[in-house]
Amino acid sequence: MEKPIHILVTNDDGINAPGLLALAQAMRALGKVTVVAPDHNWSAGGHVKTMHRPIRVRETELADGSKAYHSDGAPSDCVAVALLGFIKQKVDLVVSGINPNANIGSDVTYSGTVTAAMEGAIACLPSIAVSQDSPEYYEGKLDFSTSARVACEVAEKVMEKGMPEGTLINLNVPYLPYESLKGYCITRQGIRLYHDVLVRRKDPRGKPYYWIGGPAPTGVPEKDTDYGAIKSGYVSITPLKLDLTAEPAIRTLKSWKFKLKE
Ligand code: MN
Repeated sequence: MEKPIHILVTNDDGINAPGLLALAQAMRALGKVTVVAPDHNWSAGGHVKTMHRPIRVRETELADGSKAYHSDGAPSDCVAVALLGFIKQKVDLVVSGINPNANIGSDVTYSGTVTAAMEGAIACLPSIAVSQDSPEYYEGKLDFSTSARVACEVAEKVMEKGMPEGTLINLNVPYLPYESLKGYCITRQGIRLYHDVLVRRKDPRGKPYYWIGGPAPTGVPEKDTDYGAIKSGYVSITPLKLDLTAEPAIRTLKSWKFKLKE
């Protein structure tokens, strides 16, 4: 019998997030699951390597009573600590999420969900970031069942096929019942539109402080992009690479003829 695969599950919303529980439970259908997640919400925390303070890891339980670990490090720290030896058993797959909001376009540079998966790719492991496009306003609890099911399907395929080196998957799922999904769409990063505003207020001592706020971001729903896909009811699978080189700009910049001064 083939050895069951070992899946490292993490997120950026923290150990108590319902999306993490849904993902961990879904992944158990594919193999052994170890959860190492941040002890608080790191959403939009970016790709972090904590170097100037120690990182603590503590054993805890998820809401279903299963064993898990939480750490005071960032999502990417959780993956690094786990893969550098905290987890003794070899890990075969890293899955991060389920983030309750889509991570599209340049969100991927802010997203703790995606950067956790990037850390997995740095360690040369197949890695998947899972996010769902939940509505801005909703009543009751968010439903993660569609995304969890989709994450399982994608993870299964990734384990079957293997991932190209230095590549991770950014998975975005529309907030729809599974039966209403139109299918899968392999996409490129689209354009996210931010509507941030800088709020300037005064603290109780009269000194100004700043808060970045404003309405939720939107995007350009272009065909074959992450945003375009989820907005038309498709699951978006974007292969991301850690090499951020803007290839077409190399020629342009070469033509500028940079020269050291004599
Ligand atoms: Mn988040």
